[in-house]
Amino acid sequence: MESWNEECAVVGVYNVDNASVLSYYALFAMQHRGQEASGISASNGSKITTIKNNGLVTKIFTDRRLAKLQGRSAIGHNRYSTAGEDSINDAQPIFARYDLGEIAIAHNGNLTNAKEIREGLIKEGAIFQSHLDTENLIHLIARSQKEHLKDRIIDALHYVDGAYSFVFLSRSKMFVVRDRYGLRPLSLGKIHNEDGSIGYMVASETCAFDLAGVEFVRDIEPGEMLIFDGAYSFQNSQPQSIKVFESSPFSCVFEYVYFARPDSNVFGRNVYQARKQMGIELAKEHQIQADMVIPVPDSGVAAAIGYSKESGVDFELGIIRNHYVGRTFIEPTQKMREIKVRLKLNPIKELIKGKSIIVIDDSVVRGTTSKQIIKILRQAGAKQIHLLISSPPTISPCYYGVDTPDKESLICANKSIEEVRNFIGADSLGFLSIEGLLRSIAGDKQTFCKACFDGKYIDTYTLTHTKGC
Ligand code: SF4
Repeated sequence: MESWNEECAVVGVYNVDNASVLSYYALFAMQHRGQEASGISASNGSKITTIKNNGLVTKIFTDRRLAKLQGRSAIGHNRYSTAGEDSINDAQPIFARYDLGEIAIAHNGNLTNAKEIREGLIKEGAIFQSHLDTENLIHLIARSQKEHLKDRIIDALHYVDGAYSFVFLSRSKMFVVRDRYGLRPLSLGKIHNEDGSIGYMVASETCAFDLAGVEFVRDIEPGEMLIFDGAYSFQNSQPQSIKVFESSPFSCVFEYVYFARPDSNVFGRNVYQARKQMGIELAKEHQIQADMVIPVPDSGVAAAIGYSKESGVDFELGIIRNHYVGRTFIEPTQKMREIKVRLKLNPIKELIKGKSIIVIDDSVVRGTTSKQIIKILRQAGAKQIHLLISSPPTISPCYYGVDTPDKESLICANKSIEEVRNFIGADSLGFLSIEGLLRSIAGDKQTFCKACFDGKYIDTYTLTHTKGC
């Protein structure tokens, strides 16, 4: 996978001792969704404390810092920057004081009309500290004339369009909202406290629950708000639920292709099983005689296992991934680009030499990484290389909170499959069809966004380039 980057993670914890520590573990489990910055806001009932910084979760949250985040409720965020500077001001949660007290917000998604809203607010005298579309919400909430925070949030949400999974923290309550399309995932889990009381966690991915021993309850519905308020008695051990918008499901299919961890369940389906099924569907659509099928690790592994199962072609781990590669400080010459790929991926020559191989990857974006992989496999002595992709050709950028190259840089948007094959240097090239992808996730065509594969965006979508997360 190349240049198609994760899109942030959010967590919220309520009614649990040391809520910040559970938030830390959840953010650690969801580090794959964003590595640029991380933050936690915790409330002790009378005051919200926020700590955030650039870098990885383990680097930012030392024991000393976590000890400062006291309280039984907390929200957290991992950030992948989509554009612009890497300023600490753009890390989340965003914290503010206003007439009702204190509030912190964390957001996964992208508000597509953020530019117009911000321009209007600036004309009215608002001052912004960050480039984040999320900051618009703070201003809209502060300006609302409604008496209670819940109603102010609902008021503010009626101005914004696009993709969001929001968590809001006040000094005593937590609010969680998912946009009417359910574009980004968000799940609810239950925590059985030692004193017999019930606590809650919401998180972008269920892998966060597993690490912290949280029981999965359900996905938050598109257009639904959950209210966690100690003053309410929870209904049947569930937080209060309000339908803010009529749902119009359009969940991101790319969560299954690449973003989510295989041990997570998103939109009601386990990611590993979905990826394995993509490999099975790929084998039905592309039957190739070869000595072995090998994945591009890690995201191609489950699909390659599925392909091998369906086709009977032997599965081998022909390429080994180095998991300890950080940033590379090398010049963009051809030789150096090769070194960069080899730093991460190295083929086993003794396995590959003289063999006809099927290579499975999850997607092709610019085509440059695929070209390098084919090259190192040829240098390892492969006789024939058939590249199969466990998703359809990516032809359109994402405007819903995923960092994608412009259309001009998407190779499949600008070349035929034969031209792409020629550029990459494979002996053959095949993609999973959109129908095969939807069959793999057992999804209805109407309920998934697949705009990066078919260019069909949500009706209300406006082409506004904003800095989301
Ligand atoms: S355009 Fe692609 S990456 Fe973006 S939300 Fe839709 S399916 Fe997901």
